[in-house]
Amino acid sequence: MPIGRINANSFSQYSGCKLFSQMPLSQKTKDGLHEANYKVMTDIQRASLPHALCGRDVLGAAKTGSGKTLAFIIPVLEKLYRARWGPEDGVGCIIISPTRELADQIFDVLKIVGKHHAFSAGLLIGGRLLQQMDETVNFECSQLQILVHDEADRILDVGFKKPLNNIISQLPKERQTLLFSATQTKSVQDLARLSLKDPEYLGVHEEA
Ligand code: ADP
Ligand code: MG
Repeated sequence: MPIGRINANSFSQYSGCKLFSQMPLSQKTKDGLHEANYKVMTDIQRASLPHALCGRDVLGAAKTGSGKTLAFIIPVLEKLYRARWGPEDGVGCIIISPTRELADQIFDVLKIVGKHHAFSAGLLIGGRLLQQMDETVNFECSQLQILVHDEADRILDVGFKKPLNNIISQLPKERQTLLFSATQTKSVQDLARLSLKDPEYLGVHEEA
C-alpha cells in the first residue's frame, strides 16, 4: 500500500480539509487517531498540518487548549514512518517542552496516537537532554529528522534560552523544525530565527 505523501506544492490540496481522515496520513496514524476519537481537526491543526506534512518548518501560534500537541505529534509520526525509521538510525526526533507536566502529557498523546507505530520513545526530564547529548554514545542525533519546540514562549520565560541554544547548535541543520507557542513574543521570534528555516507563520485566533 502506498504511504501517504504530499510533495512541497500539493499542500493547498489539503488546506480545505476538516477531518483527519481526509489528510494524507498513514493507516497506522489514522487508526490511532480514530481509536482515540479524534475526528475533526481544530483550527491550528487544519492550518498547520498541510504545511508540516510536506516538510516545511512551521511557527504556529494558538492559545492554550487549541490542540497544538497533535499539530506536531502527527507530522513527527508521519515523517519518521515515511523514512522507515528504526533503532539503528539513532534519534529521529526531539520534542522540547518547558515543564515535566507538559512533557508527560505529550508523551501520553504520543503513546495513544502512535500506538500502531513501532517507534521507541523516551522521556528526559530535568535538564537531562544536554547531559545525554554530551555523555551518551547511544544518543546519536546526527540523523535527526525533526525538532519540535512546544510552548516556546514558556521555555524562554523560564530562562532556558542558553541551554536551548546549546542544544540547537549540536543538532544537524538539515532537519524540519516545528515551533508552537501560545504567544508571539520577541524571544519567540529570536528562537525562530535561530532554529527555523523559512517558516510558514500560522496564527490562529479563534473567536470567543
Ligand atoms: P494546546 O497544546 O494547544 O494547549 P492540547 O494539544 O493540549 O492543546 O489539546 C487540548 C485538548 O484538546 C486536549 O484534551 C486534546 O485531547 C483535545 N484535542 C486536541 N485536538 C483535538 C481534536 N482534533 N478533536 C478533539 N479534541 C482535541
Ligand atoms: Mg500544549
